[in-house]
Amino acid sequence: MDLRAFAEDANARLAAEHEALMQFLYLSPVGLVQTDSGGEILMINPISAQLLMPLAHDGNLVNLFEALEGVAPELRHLCATFTRPNGMVCDGLQIHLNYPNYAGGGALRPRRSPQVLSLSLLKLDDTRLMAVLSDVSEQVRRERQLRQNDAWLNALLTSITDYALVGLDREGRVCEWNETIGRVTGHSEAVVGSSYAVFYPPDAITDEQVHDRLREADQNGWNLDEGARVRADGSQFWASAMISPIPDRDLEPVDPDAPAYCMVVRDISDKREAIETRRKSAFCDHLTGVANRRAFFEAAELELQRNRRAPRPTALILVDADHFKCINDRHGHPGGDAVLRQLGLVLTATFRQVDVVARIGGEEFAVLLPSSTLAGAAAVAERLRQVVQAQAVAFEGASISLTVSAGVAASDGVDLDLETLMKRADRALYAAKAGGRNRVECWTPALSEPAGPSTGAPR
Ligand code: GH3
Ligand code: MG
Ligand code: MG
Repeated sequence: MDLRAFAEDANARLAAEHEALMQFLYLSPVGLVQTDSGGEILMINPISAQLLMPLAHDGNLVNLFEALEGVAPELRHLCATFTRPNGMVCDGLQIHLNYPNYAGGGALRPRRSPQVLSLSLLKLDDTRLMAVLSDVSEQVRRERQLRQNDAWLNALLTSITDYALVGLDREGRVCEWNETIGRVTGHSEAVVGSSYAVFYPPDAITDEQVHDRLREADQNGWNLDEGARVRADGSQFWASAMISPIPDRDLEPVDPDAPAYCMVVRDISDKREAIETRRKSAFCDHLTGVANRRAFFEAAELELQRNRRAPRPTALILVDADHFKCINDRHGHPGGDAVLRQLGLVLTATFRQVDVVARIGGEEFAVLLPSSTLAGAAAVAERLRQVVQAQAVAFEGASISLTVSAGVAASDGVDLDLETLMKRADRALYAAKAGGRNRVECWTPALSEPAGPSTGAPR
C-alpha cells in the first residue's frame, strides 16, 4: 500500500469514527453539550437542546453559561477558578428550573412538581468543556416523597396514643422497638426478637396459630383478631390487632432484616364491655358462661381448616355428666343448674386458654384442643375427671357429688373433618359410659365397629 492510499484509508477511518461519535452524541440518552472555555456552544445533542430550550433567551441557544445564568449563576465562576488543565469542574450539580405557576392571562396553571436537571461539567482541555445533562425530576420527587413518608410515619409514631405499630419478620418476630410499643404494651427493647405471641396471655395462642395468622394475612391481605392481650407487667388489656403483609417486602434485593408484616395493636379496653356483652349473647352459653354450640362449631371448623393447610394434631374431648338425671331428681332443677355451672368453671380452669370449652347439650360439654395429640388430650381429660370427682358442689346446704365420663379423639396429623372427629369422640364417650362411667376412653379403630348406637351414648 503506498503512502497516499494509506493516508486516504486513515482519513476514511477517521471520518467513520467521527460519524460514529456524532451518532453516539445524537442518540445518547443523556444530554451532551460541547462548548469552548467561555461556554459558547460548539455541539449540542437533541436531548440537551430539549432540556435547555425553556431557558434559552429568545429561543437561541448560543452560550451554555448564559442559558443557565438564571438557575446556576455559579457555573461561569466555577469554570474560571478551575485551574487544572483538565478534569471534573462539577459533578451532579442539581439545577432547579422554576417554571412560573401562572400562565398568561392570569389563569392559574396547575402546580407541577419542579423540574430538576443534573449537570456535570468536564474540562477536556483549555479550549473545550463537555457538559452532561439529565433530567432527574422524577428521582428528586421520589426522594422527597420518601422523606415525606418518613416524616409522616414519625409523626404518627409520636402522636398516636392507643395504637402500637409493630414490625414483624417472616416468622412473626418483633423486628424493631418503637415508642408506640412501649406506650401500649409497656415492653422495652428486650421484646425485639420475640414472637408476637408475647403480647398474648400465657397459653392463649399456639405456635401454629401464630403462623396461621401470618399465612392468612398473606392470603387475604390482612388478619384481624380481637381479644385479651398482656402488657410487660402481666396486666391485661382488650385489644384489636391487625396483621398485614408489607407490600414491598419481596422487591429485590430482599432485606432479611426488614419487617415483612406490620401489626397494629389497638387498645380497646374502654369499648370492651359493650363488645363483650354482644359477644357473650351471641357466643356464650347463658348458664355456664362457656362457649355455646355455635361458637364451638365455628371455632372447630376454623381450626380444622387451618389444620388442613398446615397439619398439626387437633384433639376433641366430649364430656358428659354421669347420672345427671338423678341429681335433678334429688336436688331439683336449680341444684342441677348449680352443678352445671360448677362443671363449667372446672372445665375452664383445667384447660388452656387456647382450648375451646363449650356446652353443646344439656349436661354435655365439648373441648377442642388445638395442637394436642390424643395422648396429651387424654391426660388432661383424666385430670378433669379426677378434679370433678374430688370436688362436691355445695347447694342449699347439700353437698352434691358428681362424676363425668369423657371420650377423646384426635386427628394426629391425619386430615379429619369435624363430623368424623365428633363421631369418634362420641364413640369413645359411649365406650366410657358402657365401661361403667367416671372414666376416660380414647377412640380406637375398634370403636368404629357398630357396637353401639351411632347417634350417641346411652346417657
Ligand atoms: P348418663 O350417665 O348416661 O349420661 O345419664 P344422665 O342421667 O346424665 O343422662 P340423661 O341423658 O338420661 O339425662 C340428662 C338430664 O339432664 C336430663 C335433663 O333433664 C337434664 N338437663 C338437661 N339440660 C339441663 C339444664 O340446663 N339444667 C338442668 N338442671 N338439667 C338439665
Ligand atoms: Mg349424662
Ligand atoms: Mg348427655
